[in-house]
Amino acid sequence: MKLYNSLTRKTEEFVPNVPGKVAMYTCGPTVYHYAHIGNMRSYICEDVLEKTLRYLGFDVKRVMNITDVGHLSDDGDNGEDKMVKGAEREHKTVMEIAEFYTKAFFDDCALVNIKRPDVVEPATNCIPEFQNMIKVLLDKGYAYKAGENVYFDTSKLKDYYVFGNQNEQELLIGARDDVTEDTNKRNKNDFVLWFTKSKFAQQALKWDSPWGVGYPGWHIECSCISMKHLGEYMDIHCGGVDNIFPHHTNEIAQSESFTGHKWCNYWFHVQHLNDRGGKMSKSKGAILTVSVLKEKGYDPLVYRFFCLQSHYRKPLEFSFEILDNTVAAYNKLKKRVLELKDDGAVDKAVFDEYKQRFSDALSDDINTSMALTVLYDVLKAPTNDATKLALINDFDYVLGLDLSVRKEEEGEEDSELAAYVEEQIALRKEAKKAKDFAKADAIRNELAARGIILEDTREGVKWRKA
Ligand code: AMP
Ligand code: ZN
Repeated sequence: MKLYNSLTRKTEEFVPNVPGKVAMYTCGPTVYHYAHIGNMRSYICEDVLEKTLRYLGFDVKRVMNITDVGHLSDDGDNGEDKMVKGAEREHKTVMEIAEFYTKAFFDDCALVNIKRPDVVEPATNCIPEFQNMIKVLLDKGYAYKAGENVYFDTSKLKDYYVFGNQNEQELLIGARDDVTEDTNKRNKNDFVLWFTKSKFAQQALKWDSPWGVGYPGWHIECSCISMKHLGEYMDIHCGGVDNIFPHHTNEIAQSESFTGHKWCNYWFHVQHLNDRGGKMSKSKGAILTVSVLKEKGYDPLVYRFFCLQSHYRKPLEFSFEILDNTVAAYNKLKKRVLELKDDGAVDKAVFDEYKQRFSDALSDDINTSMALTVLYDVLKAPTNDATKLALINDFDYVLGLDLSVRKEEEGEEDSELAAYVEEQIALRKEAKKAKDFAKADAIRNELAARGIILEDTREGVKWRKA
């Protein structure tokens, strides 16, 4: 299996530390808000990676953290605390916010067939592990105390900027103009391991520590949580490209200073989902989630299909027009699969041939669009339906598109659609009343794009499927 490794900037043969076994780690969500469909792109691609490894016969153990403390709005330890911000916004406690958004995250993952990692660990569960690592880093001279916080000293490393091509120094300078530099830092990119003198008087979660009552920095959690469950050697670490710097750079700095040896061999980074305004992000106002897509009448698996059509290392542009086209393609594909009859014995030679082609596509740095091409080729193949069906069900373990699953809850889907359309009709009525005809037209057009026709009648607005 070949994988692009962001650390070496090369596509390499994947060789795990222990033959046949894979220790895999994913940076999980910061649970101060919903995960938007951009975040979900990363998690879908990581899910495909995990399932590909399993499909190819590897025994995978995958760990994910849940960031419920320590993540500030600027990844360089500046700005506001994201969890505190979330709690204030909703007049709830930090733990209530964490619980709510962790559940929302896994509910959304389930909607797009993302398998739950084998281990999911919230950062607040692991304070003793964090403190132990910080103690060792202080003892070894890689960390220092300043202004009542503990910092990692990046100047102690021969090579701190390990992901060379990301132009990390510039990235940090460009990160935020509106935050004040922390003057306790000896070097610009030193990062906080433990805060006791927080800028936030109201800091919600605090723990006792040898350095005073406080809370951990963000980066330490991934090093400790991964080592707690996977040991000191890891095979693959995943995240979105924005995690490369400073987060992953800092994870490597502290992990390798702690253990004294190389930590993780392969780094898998997913490019961003962008909308017309650029990178999709949580701070941009209304958050588009897969649940929202569902409320709008889309099958969430259409979004998964959309993600699989492009390569994970290419930026992906999202718009509702593109999604509408994907709906048509997905429905057509599913219809063809559902029409296949279980008509006899599976032709083993044909099965093996196409399975090999599918495996080869995925083994080529997770080439999902090529894997989908193989699926379409199966539909056209000169073989019986039973063989086609067997292949498609086999592929669907990785693709997760439920292609041969007939929806039993069709009725439920219909009532959700009806509720959505009624809501849109009410909004359109309000827009007309306010003489906002552009908005009224936009609502009608949006529904039309989804195959819903509105008819203005004397009894009010009626609707039907086109
Ligand atoms: P966060 O909850 O902000 O820590 O992000 C969760 C994951 O989503 C991380 O792996 C990020 O790198 C990734 N991510 C954030 N924004 C996007 C985006 N627009 N497209 C794809 N992945 C993203
Ligand atoms: Zn992480």
